[in-house]
Amino acid sequence: QSKLSLAEKDVQHQLHPYTDARVHQEVGPLIIERGEGVYVFDDQGKRYVEAMSGLWSVALGFSNERLIKAAEQQLRKLPFYHLFSHKAHSPSIELAEKLIEIAPVPMSKVFFTNSGSEANDTVVKMIWYRNNAIGKPTKKKFISRLNAYHGITTVSASLTGLPANQRGFDVPLSGFYHVGCPHHYRYAKPGETEEQFADRLAAELESVILREGPETIAAFYGEPLMGAGGVIVPPRTYWEKIQAVCSKYDILVVADEVICGFGRTGKMFGSETFGIKPDVMVVSKQLSSSYQPIAAILINDKVFEGIADQSHTMGTLGHGFTGSGHPVATAVALENIRIIQEEHLVEHAAEMGELLQAGLAHFSEHPLVGEVRGCGLIAAVELVADRKTKAPMDVVGKLGRYLAGRAQEHGMITRAMGDSIAFCPPLISTKAEIQLVLDTFSRALDDTDRWFGL
Ligand code: PLP
Repeated sequence: QSKLSLAEKDVQHQLHPYTDARVHQEVGPLIIERGEGVYVFDDQGKRYVEAMSGLWSVALGFSNERLIKAAEQQLRKLPFYHLFSHKAHSPSIELAEKLIEIAPVPMSKVFFTNSGSEANDTVVKMIWYRNNAIGKPTKKKFISRLNAYHGITTVSASLTGLPANQRGFDVPLSGFYHVGCPHHYRYAKPGETEEQFADRLAAELESVILREGPETIAAFYGEPLMGAGGVIVPPRTYWEKIQAVCSKYDILVVADEVICGFGRTGKMFGSETFGIKPDVMVVSKQLSSSYQPIAAILINDKVFEGIADQSHTMGTLGHGFTGSGHPVATAVALENIRIIQEEHLVEHAAEMGELLQAGLAHFSEHPLVGEVRGCGLIAAVELVADRKTKAPMDVVGKLGRYLAGRAQEHGMITRAMGDSIAFCPPLISTKAEIQLVLDTFSRALDDTDRWFGL
């Protein structure tokens, strides 16, 4: 048996996502050993309030007995089966029915994948496939936004509009375009109102469509509220205007609800909060509280009919993963949605969201705070070195990294996206737990202020 510590073995053997591999060799991992409610504990027994729900996903916290039981029962009954060639099993059938029942717009069919990235790859392929079937073989390009996050497989990274996910990877592929990010604080022109800014972004979208030719554009892709790009809440009328441009040119609208879905913005789906009527919706993360890896794509009749025709012509739909609709993952997701409904966690998230937003708003006049933004139980505080010019310290990300480090020291896990500190606590958080998040942030901000003043 190896005499190395766990941390040493980690450094020796694992390549971590979103981690500087060289720095990791110096600093090593933070080993998380167990979870309980909204808390996780490291291997030294130190407790952290998980203000990010892991990766925006653990809606029900880290120790939900019903989810554990749902997984165990399904493992004993049927640990694996697939959906290929007309096969089915009850958890995936019931989950598909449940998703169609709660969808914010009439949806026709559900297709399962293992991750959000795979789901977004699948959506692009499905839309290509469908447009071939309906005699629109040129309608193949996708438009998404700068700072969007749609995943990291080759196609989903092409939809993603964050430099960090593209730099060094030879993406985006051709046929993927990015229009402006609807972040008023950063990208509005001086004196431009939110309304005017939204008009300008819709006009920009229209000009890209006209430049490329509407007959070449398949779909517009967006998160209702951008998550990983910095928790960007769009202007009130933004989506209505974008949606109008898309319908004018027969362009499908895809809502990537991977973060927003299942109560995060205070309604069941972000599409409801922001008035989107998507043709296709992608959900993951809070779908199963991440107890199992799973994502789902919901498509409306318009999209399904073309896919059905094409699969009939081809003799099969030549797409699907071994884990598509995995029985354990779908059983856990179904139980997860039932709990969210039975325990009224969407309403609870809206209520706790008000506390979180109001609490963070108290920091909005702090000399290091440029903007406080959010909606429901998701928020960000953007740090700046100069409130007037909105300039960062010397490099973007330095203030954010420092503050997140101090928060961790004080027992809270949050995430710095550049200089924006994200908050995305579990939906089950109590008032006292939201207060703990606010108090810990306050301590970390004080530390950052002292460090900045040195
Ligand atoms: N879409 C959005 C909006 C996301 O936030 C993410 C992940 O953070 C993804 C897609 C990709 O999901 P996954 O990491 O499961 O591939």
